[in-house]
Amino acid sequence: MDGSGLPVTRSTCPYCGVGCGVLLQPDGQGGLNVRGDPDHPANYGRLCSKGTALGETVGLEQRLFAPRVDGRDTSWDTALQLVADRFSQTIAEHGPDSTAFYVSGQLLTEDYYVANKLMKGFVGSANIDTNSRLCMASSVAGHKRAFGTDTVPGTYEDIDEADLVVLVGSNLAWCHPVLYQRLLAARKKRGTKVVVIDPRRTASCDGADMHLALQPGSDVALFNRLLVALYDGGALDVAYIARTDGFDAALKAAWNDSSKPTGLSEAEIQAFCSLWMSTDKVVTIYSQGVNQSTSGSDKVNAILNCHLATGRIGKPGCGPFSVTGQPNAMGGREVGGLANMLACHLDLENADHRAAVRGFWGAKTVPDKPGLKAVDMFRGVGDGRIKALWIIHTNPAVSMPEADAVRDAIAACPFTVVSDITDQTDTARLADVLLPASAWAEKDGTVTNSDRTISRQRSVLPAPGQARPDWDILAEVGRRMGFAKAFDYGSEVEIFREYAALSGIAGQFGRDFDISALSDLTDTEYANLTPQRWPISATRKGGRFFANGQFFHPNGKARMLPVSWKPPAAKTTPRFPFRLNTGRVRDQWHTMTRTGLSARLSAHLAEPFVDIHPEDARSLDIKPADLVQISSPTGTAILRARITDAVPLGQVFAPMHWTGETAPAARIGAVVAAAFDPVSGQPESKAGVAAVSRF
Ligand code: SF4
Repeated sequence: MDGSGLPVTRSTCPYCGVGCGVLLQPDGQGGLNVRGDPDHPANYGRLCSKGTALGETVGLEQRLFAPRVDGRDTSWDTALQLVADRFSQTIAEHGPDSTAFYVSGQLLTEDYYVANKLMKGFVGSANIDTNSRLCMASSVAGHKRAFGTDTVPGTYEDIDEADLVVLVGSNLAWCHPVLYQRLLAARKKRGTKVVVIDPRRTASCDGADMHLALQPGSDVALFNRLLVALYDGGALDVAYIARTDGFDAALKAAWNDSSKPTGLSEAEIQAFCSLWMSTDKVVTIYSQGVNQSTSGSDKVNAILNCHLATGRIGKPGCGPFSVTGQPNAMGGREVGGLANMLACHLDLENADHRAAVRGFWGAKTVPDKPGLKAVDMFRGVGDGRIKALWIIHTNPAVSMPEADAVRDAIAACPFTVVSDITDQTDTARLADVLLPASAWAEKDGTVTNSDRTISRQRSVLPAPGQARPDWDILAEVGRRMGFAKAFDYGSEVEIFREYAALSGIAGQFGRDFDISALSDLTDTEYANLTPQRWPISATRKGGRFFANGQFFHPNGKARMLPVSWKPPAAKTTPRFPFRLNTGRVRDQWHTMTRTGLSARLSAHLAEPFVDIHPEDARSLDIKPADLVQISSPTGTAILRARITDAVPLGQVFAPMHWTGETAPAARIGAVVAAAFDPVSGQPESKAGVAAVSRF
């Protein structure tokens, strides 16, 4: 309660991986007042434009109120029995791998856990993947290769304490605005230097000490130059290197990259290396410009190599820091909700890990090979290998690369289920069965933000119509498929306790993810759970990973990887001469299902657009606000031209948000090819090729 007499509830913003705490106060008329939670350690009361406008996005205009089969409203009983029967029948006729779940970093951890358990433990396939594959899979792969586990070593306090923050492929000012505000506050207080490494001049470059407009895809070459400079300058931490394997090979690969192109001048490279070398407290924040690449995993390891070689990790104000895009991308990683992971950071390839999870779940089997990652999953849908597909809280007909082919594949799939809060997405329109899910502020559970802090989301509004929480829908289908005992959940807290107990087994295997101290939470303790940074085991609460130089490979050492520059997969040609970069804008989120409801947010950039360099515009006779056609071998989009030298000559940038629902010709995902990193499976959304012409 506050002075108004209306109750105030603590929850978490549903957008980006910063995971800001919010105070929610229903206005008594179906609306919601939202302000920053001054006590939440992610934001201490700050919110960005999207978080501030949350109260404007809880209207019911576009909501889905009842289950629907073949376009007609029906009962839950009919819809769920149909889903259970069709999945069971498909498994019986074609095997478990003929089914797939494609889920989302928007899911709460409890929902994610149940989806993963159902697919990996009881359907018997690892065909569960997530839109987080498009977000940070390369970071997961890089972490596992270097540390032995998917451990994010950094915390937000490190940003407050750093003397140099390097933003690589991250427009932090727009995509993680509250972290950027923290960085600006640190800069004001202690003079933190900021370097931005990005082909585009973004809002994050305003006031930065250095902007390195590198050539798309050349991050490995740049960080290899840094590793060599650290060696040449005598700036290595020899004692720390003794706790790692692979230094000599990594340095040799770095030497071999010395003449590889970066698009930067020698003076720029030297200035960057010398600033890095002369600053003890360095945090390297990286995001989609690193991850969304056919060499994304190598880019991550090139960055980690420099931090490991100098011991700039495991200390206050130091470390590599992958900032996640979605509110619960981290929770999805923790529950193992990707096709190549097992629950609680256990390994699918490890027979002991599989046996432990199988025993814990009471499952007959747990698959011993990875399932289909996002791009391959939709190719499997398209070529008929996947015959029953369940898509949960994501819009792949817009967001996946080669979105036209993905849309056509879903349309042709023999049986497609979509769970969402609305029927007004390109993907929902393709569903055979549409299931109404509860939305943010209507459901309870937990999320994990980019610095491993687990926070509660809490319900303060009634779910409209027949909408239900996702865990409840998934568990009911599991029961109807014959797995009554395994999915006998009555509430979110029962799932959370089970998940926390399973993490204790991971802890016994020496894994990093252990929240077993939360496995005995009472219902009241769960209801009142305050933000907690893992690990949270009986023997360890929070604390800093790698402070003691102990890593999670069997020999306890970190591994430095030899990585080499590779160009983007698609080559520019006379027919497709431009590099196409896609990304986010400040005030929209994903495919605008929620942020599109706020007039204030939509006013920031009201139309889909493409940024074109003035010289390119001149040579193509394109004027400001002209309609422009962007095409590639995979598709076409029509966008409004913005002429700006924020993009380099020969490159164009287009936002990813607009859909077939909001701007039918502007689905930029249709133009992006589905080339992906062979290690992480993450598609290359930052360095495609395109032809540009006046429409
Ligand atoms: Fe929400 Fe991210 Fe903005 Fe925080 S920074 S208010 S989590 S969108």
